[in-house]
Amino acid sequence: MIHKDIMCNRCEMEEIAGNRYKCLLCDRYNMCQRCYSKEDHPHQECFLRLAYPLPQEEIQHLVETVQSVPSNKPSSSNPSQATSNPNNVRQQKTGIVDEHT
Ligand SMILES: [Zn+2]
Ligand SMILES: [Zn+2]
Repeated sequence: MIHKDIMCNRCEMEEIAGNRYKCLLCDRYNMCQRCYSKEDHPHQECFLRLAYPLPQEEIQHLVETVQSVPSNKPSSSNPSQATSNPNNVRQQKTGIVDEHT
């Protein structure tokens, strides 16, 4: 599956082939499967995986849905998302297992 006009921000492939990975924290940041699998982006856990192209509005809607879910951020080095109400930061079904317990 080809994602037309979606460039991989990492290897600069002009049309992402296969799965497209969109970072939910970075604005307009996309990676191809191969770059994503290198796991060197700071927000690896916060990617939207798109197996086939979706209309921009759909994607925007998905991103907003995901971003509105209060979740424990895996890394504390993320000041841009520090706005959630501390009372709401209780564990959600985010599947984050990497906390110090
Ligand atoms: Zn790439
Ligand atoms: Zn990112």
